[in-house]
Amino acid sequence: MAVKITDICIACGACIDECPVEAIVDDDDNPTGEDIYYVYADKCVECVGHHDEPACAAACPTEGCIVWSDVVEGQPSRDEIGADLRKGDTPCVE
Ligand code: SF4
Ligand code: SF4
Repeated sequence: MAVKITDICIACGACIDECPVEAIVDDDDNPTGEDIYYVYADKCVECVGHHDEPACAAACPTEGCIVWSDVVEGQPSRDEIGADLRKGDTPCVE
């Protein structure tokens, strides 16, 4: 775990098919009820083993929309990249 999608998401759909582990759901299926896409943190592997960077963030046209979230023990994470960036809403792809 994980990245998260912030409320500046425009629900364009560019990220959802990029996720190799189907961790992203659209606004209709967002469990928070917000009108934005959503990342299931317990499914997101930060694209470790799939891509060099989070593919969703690379595809997202909305700058700063996808940010680092907290690490869940046992989930793959990009410690070397994300560790110092998880304290705020720091984009995971600059
Ligand atoms: S970082 Fe990778 S695994 Fe996580 S939600 Fe984005 S595309 Fe899916
Ligand atoms: S690509 Fe970005 S703006 Fe588009 S739905 Fe995904 S998170 Fe939202």
